Amino acid sequence: MFFKSEIQEALKQGGCPICILSRRSLNNYYFWLLHQNYSVLEHIQELQRAGGLCKDHARPLLEVRSEMTTYCLGIMYQYILQFRVSRLLALLTQLKKSNSGGWFFLRGVREERLQLTKSSFRKREICPACKYQRLQAGYALQDLAEQLGDAEIRELYDHSPGLCLDHLSQGIELLPDNKLLGLLEVQAKKLLHLESELAEFLRKFNYIYREEPKGEEQTSWIRAIRWCAGGGEGV
Ligand SMILES: [Zn+2]
Ligand SMILES: [Zn+2]
Repeated sequence: MFFKSEIQEALKQGGCPICILSRRSLNNYYFWLLHQNYSVLEHIQELQRAGGLCKDHARPLLEVRSEMTTYCLGIMYQYILQFRVSRLLALLTQLKKSNSGGWFFLRGVREERLQLTKSSFRKREICPACKYQRLQAGYALQDLAEQLGDAEIRELYDHSPGLCLDHLSQGIELLPDNKLLGLLEVQAKKLLHLESELAEFLRKFNYIYREEPKGEEQTSWIRAIRWCAGGGEGV
């Protein structure tokens, strides 16, 4: 759950408030990962299936300098590597069998096993930190939608860059219709404004209007690309 003060602060920062809140909540994830979950079976198995954290979420791990934390990371990644190596060895065994010839009817069975072992190696579940961040984003969306009835929050949201495309989509999927209405009304206003800025930007390319003063519409194409790409940018 996110408090009103946290939502207010995120709305004042610029950028998608849900990106800001869900990113910040990752501190909890890292804290528990490095202080407890690195040796908890359930978490280790999840990390093994995922093949560790994704590139974005692994980056902060590479910056740790505490000796104790590097020890925890060593243990965690040892489990992940052991799991991957055992699967690789299983694949190698299947591959050797399949290349060794033998009876025709055996070849079919071996080929089937080989394909299964290959696909079980290739399969990577979603990074646990990505899952955690999405879950927190869901809570933040619910809290924001809930608090839009508060005049201060509504005012801040009206003047904020709004939601990125990823979190707008997640909100549409997650929120009940009555909570979604306020959120979508503001977002639609923001996107219509961006669309008109883009039209203005393009209009000034016409040689007749080329000498007109340039304004904020000049960055509209950048904001449109960023918004569509998602990952933190409001409108
Ligand atoms: Zn976002
Ligand atoms: Zn991730």
